[in-house]
Amino acid sequence: MSESDNFQAANSDSIISSSSTEQAVKCACNLTTHPMRAWTRNNPGRRFVSCRGRRVGRQYVKCDFFQWVDQEPPHGWQHLALIETRDIINE
Ligand SMILES: [Zn+2]
Repeated sequence: MSESDNFQAANSDSIISSSSTEQAVKCACNLTTHPMRAWTRNNPGRRFVSCRGRRVGRQYVKCDFFQWVDQEPPHGWQHLALIETRDIINE
């Protein structure tokens, strides 16, 4: 693990709130993607980018682009806290 990885883990809150400074990722359509949050049990709150789709005539076309933004799935206390947050949101 590099020093920058440690820095990100220790400052994840500030990283999340300043996502606009992250480098834009483009999908196979050459569209700029925006980080979304996964709320699955294995990856609560883990951010990923995927194709937003584009309008082609009357249809909406998407490519299969998918990439995690957060390199590792949540774990430990962070994982549990995120699950609780998700459950509160869902109530
Ligand atoms: Zn695409």
